[in-house]
Amino acid sequence: MPEGDTINRTAAALRIALVGKPITRFEAPRLVGPQPAQGRIVERVSSHGKHLEIVWDDGLILHTHMRMSGSWHLYRVDERWRRPVGQVRVIIAVSDWVAVCFNAPVVETYRKFDRHRHPGFGPLGPDLCRDDADLDECANLLYHYADQTARISEVLLDQHVMCGVGNVYRCEVLWACKMHPFAPISALDGDDCTHLVNTAARLLRANLHTAGQPMTSGLTAHRVTTDLVRGGLAVYGRNGQRCAGCGDTIEVCRTGVNARLLYWCHGCQVLHGPQRAVPVDEQERVMDPHPAAAKYLAELPWRRHDPMAG
Ligand SMILES: [Zn+2]
Repeated sequence: MPEGDTINRTAAALRIALVGKPITRFEAPRLVGPQPAQGRIVERVSSHGKHLEIVWDDGLILHTHMRMSGSWHLYRVDERWRRPVGQVRVIIAVSDWVAVCFNAPVVETYRKFDRHRHPGFGPLGPDLCRDDADLDECANLLYHYADQTARISEVLLDQHVMCGVGNVYRCEVLWACKMHPFAPISALDGDDCTHLVNTAARLLRANLHTAGQPMTSGLTAHRVTTDLVRGGLAVYGRNGQRCAGCGDTIEVCRTGVNARLLYWCHGCQVLHGPQRAVPVDEQERVMDPHPAAAKYLAELPWRRHDPMAG
């Protein structure tokens, strides 16, 4: 029978193996709820008692409950599984690992309410993952965004402007375009909007077609040392590390309605930066520069149900 501390250790292992990576395979024969799309990036793994949650960057959450019988195993791609295939409830593969859940009685997916994604707040924008998406329309929606004071890092998540960009991709797109995440929409001209939309579409499509390959390198204005973006991501999850573009230190803060983590480099992401410094009370700085510490803090039991966490 799995105990809470076993599941905690399992979650820590799954976190190291999966977070920040696009999935190459997802199977769940008894799943209740929508499937995560191939190529979507795992943003977070957390556990609470016998519950284990895996969160994708488009907001989809996989909830598994172990009860008496369930367990998660982590295997190398060519490793032999220690339980029979008939007991498999979930398979999640990334380039180098396969996470398998056996015998969990509860396997379900859902999305938390998010007005940026809710069709009740207007029609959804073009899906950038599709080859036939109207990118000009998308750039137009961005340029004419109703709230011109809104920050670009928030608007990129608004699915009424464009679908497909989640928390991971918004950080990568802004870095690739060297744009300040707090740039107000009013500061962007038509070319900026077109450049952002085209970069986002290229990044998403390249990643969907070649999941597991470095994704940001080769798609940016930076002259990048490929070694520094090994694993694919240039800024997401890399707080405290050197920027592959300029060598400055990558920072992280919590910002916006859902206080999601925003990673960026203040050395090279200067385009349309706000004239005044952003007041401290508007951006909760995450003081500890280590990613593991940030995740640990986000998972403390008394923060788990805090809407400001995670
Ligand atoms: Zn930089």
